[in-house]
Amino acid sequence: MTIENKLYSILFQVDRERHTQVKTELCNECNEKWCVTVCPAECYKIVEGKVEFAYDGCLECGTCQKVCEKGAIDWNYPRGGFGVCFRYG
Ligand code: SF4
Repeated sequence: MTIENKLYSILFQVDRERHTQVKTELCNECNEKWCVTVCPAECYKIVEGKVEFAYDGCLECGTCQKVCEKGAIDWNYPRGGFGVCFRYG
């Protein structure tokens, strides 16, 4: 099974409240933009030279906050009952 197929098997209960806030003005001062490279769900994209973030497909791994050198990412788990739901097996 490919990674893409595994990602399609994941369910999300998307909350109206963003569980992660990104100060994209700081991202635009960052040369490396590691978040775009490391996010397995491709939540970060560069559009017309600027970082855009979409929280609704977040896999809740926390990697983006760990690699951010600008402190631009305020990452939290979603509220109870929301977020990613993995199917194992
Ligand atoms: Fe992507 Fe993981 Fe950050 Fe979610 S927590 S946006 S999946 S790197």
